[in-house]
Amino acid sequence: MPKPKILFLFSDTGGGHRSAAEAIMEALELEFPGRFQTEMLDIFREYAPLPFNYAPDIYPRFSKLPRMWEWTYTVSDGKRRMRVFYNFLWPYLRRSLRQLLNEHPAEVIVSVHSLVNTPIMRARVNTNSRFVTVVTDLVSTHAAWYHSGADLVIVPTELAREKALKSGLPDEKIMVIGQPVAERYIQPMPDVNEIRIKNDWQLNIPTVLLVGGGEGMGNLEHFAIEINNAGLKCQLIIIAGRNEKARLMLEQVNWKIPIKIYGFVKNMPEFMHAADILITKAGPGTISEAFIASLPVILFSKMPGQESGNVDYVVNHGAGAWAPEAEIMIAQLRQWLEDPSKMQLVSKNASMLAKPMASRQIARAIAAQVKLSMDNPKKISV
Ligand code: UDP
Repeated sequence: MPKPKILFLFSDTGGGHRSAAEAIMEALELEFPGRFQTEMLDIFREYAPLPFNYAPDIYPRFSKLPRMWEWTYTVSDGKRRMRVFYNFLWPYLRRSLRQLLNEHPAEVIVSVHSLVNTPIMRARVNTNSRFVTVVTDLVSTHAAWYHSGADLVIVPTELAREKALKSGLPDEKIMVIGQPVAERYIQPMPDVNEIRIKNDWQLNIPTVLLVGGGEGMGNLEHFAIEINNAGLKCQLIIIAGRNEKARLMLEQVNWKIPIKIYGFVKNMPEFMHAADILITKAGPGTISEAFIASLPVILFSKMPGQESGNVDYVVNHGAGAWAPEAEIMIAQLRQWLEDPSKMQLVSKNASMLAKPMASRQIARAIAAQVKLSMDNPKKISV
């Protein structure tokens, strides 16, 4: 008998949706070895008609147009507004989405992208598959995440649950678990010095990790250069992500402080473990990983809308600071570097927000949906 299948729908608009889907797939295999077939599908790239198939390429450009993004986000953030939006697009999307479902039958479909939910729910005709949404924004979650026809909606925080309820989702369909994070973040780590030696970093000096997000969004270069000019007693480890232009530019700088510059790295858990402070944009994945690594966080940019709540969440829990200007960032760094007890307190607050078992718990919740799908096949029609 073929193994039950779980289909993950994501898109590379930012790096977080991919990381989340991969983390859950990994957890499924660890919790239920060999029991399920899993597949990941970039819904925009592989099935959306023109021009939506370019969404992964266009999305990073919105970080340069924050006001426009914020307007679009706010105007569309409502159940009725989403319905109007999708009613308008539906004739255009219907064929490709039905084709997707025909070509990728699955016992459970898991969405880790807000824009997937409504169109896929509409496209489900004569299918037995159950539909699970794993919300991958921490707090300020858009109404598009919440479709009342979903069988289960997993959210990372209580604040997200409140938004789900406000969006009309019944309480019994909501589970508060956490942001899915890869298993390697919770595995025992090598000694900090061992990691620093392996990567040719300095030992015995505060280490600041500056990360530009999966797609390298945010004005990384500007902040790196200002930290360099401030003459702080630290080494700077810069991860430019997929922002090749920033990486090449940073390599030309005449650095006064010890420095390492990387493009996209695969060993982020080790880098976080070996660092003392994380400076990053307000991406939910990176923030949740930092909580697990007990890293004090300085956030320097956010996508308005879905990432605004992340900043408040970090700041209100004393797990870090918001520093959209270089002077604020330098002052915060200076304070922590000069008074490590303050930094330790922030590190402790960060660790209290960690949800290291989230991926495993999400995997179990999804496996329960597979069982329900097999025990009680239901016919859907729209
Ligand atoms: N990331 C990584 N290597 C890099 C840069 C980023 O593995 O060089 C990962 C990071 O650890 C996180 C994801 O990419 O898991 C970024 O997701 P997040 O939700 O923070 O931001 P997004 O890119 O989705 O806006």
